[in-house]
Amino acid sequence: MEVTVNKSKIVLVQGDITTQATQAIVNAANTRLAGGGGVDGAIHSAGGPTIMAECRKIGGCPTGDAVITTGGTLKAKYVIHAVGPIYRGGTQGEEKLLASAYRKSLELAAVKGIHSISFPSISTGAYNYPIRQAARIALATAVDYLTEHSQIELVRFVLFGAVDLEVYEAALKDLTK
Ligand code: ADP
Repeated sequence: MEVTVNKSKIVLVQGDITTQATQAIVNAANTRLAGGGGVDGAIHSAGGPTIMAECRKIGGCPTGDAVITTGGTLKAKYVIHAVGPIYRGGTQGEEKLLASAYRKSLELAAVKGIHSISFPSISTGAYNYPIRQAARIALATAVDYLTEHSQIELVRFVLFGAVDLEVYEAALKDLTK
């Protein structure tokens, strides 16, 4: 599924984020940038050790924020490491923090002159964010950002499973109807 927002496109696909050829891909990182399972493990194993070496130099990243490294051996030139919140019932500021992780990633991409970026579904794996809510927050943040800024021409959401893709499609239809 694909929608146009202002001069840019939001595209939803099922797939593996590590193989995307957008200029940047986003990692669902942790605050220590220490590596882990899920998307993080997949990106570090596909992109090689230089990404982790750069993460160690940066040292860490607060929840709701993002940092950037090169893409190592990935097709993507950059990896943006965004830290989403751990879901603890929804009363701990999770919604704002999740929106901020997406927004900061887009802002960082723009600063680096990036025109295309792929996101995974941040926080909906090990961090347990309910995917219906997370999809709405992710997509609303992208729609709002692209309405105000036109440098980033392509924002692709790469969902690992078919059901996740359906949830994102429903949320995007709802937001853009
Ligand atoms: P978090 O800790 O932020 O919840 P996870 O990596 O555990 O991050 O999961 C986030 C989402 O990414 C989950 O929906 C998971 O299925 C998905 N995912 C895992 N590996 C990949 C991959 N290689 N490409 C895209 N999405 C992936």
